Amino acid sequence: MNDKKTNILRVAVPTPLRQTFDYLPPEGCLTLPAPGSRVRVPFQHRELVGIVLEVTTHSDFALHKLKKALAILDAEPVLAPDILALCLWAADYYHHPVGDVLDGALPVWLRQGKSAELSTESYWLLTDAGKIFDVETIKRAPRQTDLLRWLALHPEGATSRQLQEHDLPSTVLKTLVKKGLVALQKKSFTPLADAVTETPLALNAAQQQAVTEIIAAADTFKVFLLDGVTGSGKTEVYLQTITATLARQQQVLVLVPEIGLTPQTIQRFRRRFSVPVVALHSGLSDKERLNAWIAAKLGTAKIIIGTRSAIFSAFAALGLIIVDEEHDLSFKQQEGFRYHARDLAIMRARAVNIPIVLGSATASLETLARAQQGRYEHLRLPERAGGAVTPLFQVMDIRKADLDEGLSTSLLKTMREHLDAGGQVMLFLNRRGFAPVLICNTCGWLAACKRCDARMTYHHEPRRLHCHHCDAQRPVFKKCEGCGALDLQVIGLGTERLELAIAKHFPEHSIARVDRDSTQRKGSMETLLEDIQSGAHQILIGTQMLAKGHHFPNVTLVGIIDTDGGFFSTDFRAIERMGQLILQVAGRAGRASKAGTVIIQTRHPDHPLLLQLLRESYFYFANTLLKDRQLAELPPFAYFALFRAEAHLQDHATQFLQQIKNLVDNSDCAVPIWGPIAAPMPRKAGRYRVQLLMQAAQRPLLQRCLKRILPDIEKLPGKQNIRWSLDVDPLDMF
Ligand code: ADP
Ligand code: ZN
Ligand code: ZN
Repeated sequence: MNDKKTNILRVAVPTPLRQTFDYLPPEGCLTLPAPGSRVRVPFQHRELVGIVLEVTTHSDFALHKLKKALAILDAEPVLAPDILALCLWAADYYHHPVGDVLDGALPVWLRQGKSAELSTESYWLLTDAGKIFDVETIKRAPRQTDLLRWLALHPEGATSRQLQEHDLPSTVLKTLVKKGLVALQKKSFTPLADAVTETPLALNAAQQQAVTEIIAAADTFKVFLLDGVTGSGKTEVYLQTITATLARQQQVLVLVPEIGLTPQTIQRFRRRFSVPVVALHSGLSDKERLNAWIAAKLGTAKIIIGTRSAIFSAFAALGLIIVDEEHDLSFKQQEGFRYHARDLAIMRARAVNIPIVLGSATASLETLARAQQGRYEHLRLPERAGGAVTPLFQVMDIRKADLDEGLSTSLLKTMREHLDAGGQVMLFLNRRGFAPVLICNTCGWLAACKRCDARMTYHHEPRRLHCHHCDAQRPVFKKCEGCGALDLQVIGLGTERLELAIAKHFPEHSIARVDRDSTQRKGSMETLLEDIQSGAHQILIGTQMLAKGHHFPNVTLVGIIDTDGGFFSTDFRAIERMGQLILQVAGRAGRASKAGTVIIQTRHPDHPLLLQLLRESYFYFANTLLKDRQLAELPPFAYFALFRAEAHLQDHATQFLQQIKNLVDNSDCAVPIWGPIAAPMPRKAGRYRVQLLMQAAQRPLLQRCLKRILPDIEKLPGKQNIRWSLDVDPLDMF
């Protein structure tokens, strides 16, 4: 033990181990690092970058056994106390190795030990010749004039990314450089601010009340559920509360779903505010990400819009958090460190004492339940804003209908009426590819994935069999792989097949298909969306990529081809999700002045939940589900933790989880535990998947039990043959 009061650094190191490590300060170290600073340390024959959690004088290890840290990398901590605290809380709550949590919270360059200072980026600027150039002389090159005009308004220049975020064509830059009008210059990154080009709308009464209440909560922790149907003007509420936050010299964090960070979204904020807005998303390079991160930390970036991981951004003065579409599944990280960004956002707001707004038209049952318990303030926007009318729902019974490739005659007829009237029509089918099943009519052979317990989807373009679970692909042969007969048939409907069928019925109209296959090329999603906005396509076919967040004012008819999957899933959350999806899709119809119609094809036209959703509202539908969940003791009235194990041999996975179960049974934890049982898809990508579910009526019970058994799990034998993970508050039982 240590009596001379030697200083010891307690360091979180990026390893899969659930513990911290003690080091001595580096040789000749004069100033001890503050918590949140990076240090380079020796770790098992390697050098790693770790984060100092505390400086202490006590270690459980003998001093002479401690290694010296190699270098202190930061004079100022890279992780401010509030993020450090958030990460420590998250590591504890999700029972994830703290080193990995902290590592994940940092931009990649900082993880690698690079400097935490702004680095230079390449900026496009007008040359002297460009500044005096008369754009009228190239009037017939509108893309060039657009860019020149914009650069004239932004003398500080812009990076290629900033041009892209403004939907400006970087393709013509080369031409302008050749003409000597534009040049590239390296300079230190500055987040871009735009001139305000949009004025606030006059709020309706419900919006005004929401804005007033949120503003009144400044500098206090309060959770608001902003519950408003699509098109009710939630975004306008965000924008006007942001105005008040900026006026107090504070910053704003806006979390959006993965699919929601389009140039249109970013521009909506840029048009309204003259302060620097920074977007954090997966498309950024490591350098861009670090620069954006630093700009937020320094306080020069005022509004940060980002997907899930932006919750770990540093801020100089955070004053408001907004989580848009709070029910969206992409806020939950489904691998590695399995956190929920919405839940962490609430913790962060609590820690720094600021309000947080959770916005949704179809709030998650978790959030609704808390609003009903009075823990969240429930703000309602019951009507569509600006005169837009609520869409009309039509349930179409297709049990006896004569379907052509999944399309009923009455849907086709209604489509024709809307198209003739000049409206756009959107068809929603949440299944990409041509058909989900390829079968031999002679012997019954099915095209199955060799590595998963799943069928392969038949794709036309390019022609292949594709497993949507493990991504395996193989060619399609004319002959049956089972018996050799030339008797193969496809069954079921995917977006590719729907597109062909629609093209046959409406040869005079242009079709846009939006799914993962049609948008694979970089930028193709943007192009498709633009062409839809401009009316170049009249019929839109898409999976849920098309369902979320987009604003298509001219869509007057939405057809939902198939809703029935949601009623018969083994996942207890499937109905909630189906309801959310139907309303999100329906929300695309009639967002402007034209009234929208939504046709839902179903084989269960009398299903009480479906009818409640459509005739009453999401609120009643959700309440029915909440009552069911309460009776069945399911979340949000119970708390789950799911252990998963995967192995090449099923026994290995099962035995490992059985040992965990034994640990729980032999402890004094009184929590029910179910399993080990095979996962709903028992084999994926060649590995058998088994799971074990822990359930408790109260969070602390579950937490105490996990804390008790995890150290013993770390010591269990047989781990070399398996991969295992723990998911606290799992959203997905697969
Ligand atoms: P949400 O985010 O709830 O789906 P939006 O904020 O996108 O809704 O608003 C939908 C449409 O209604 C937008 O075109 C918006 O400009 C318009 N809008 C919102 N609030 C008002 C208002 N107070 N007066 C007039 N139009 C409004
Ligand atoms: Zn066959
Ligand atoms: Zn597969």
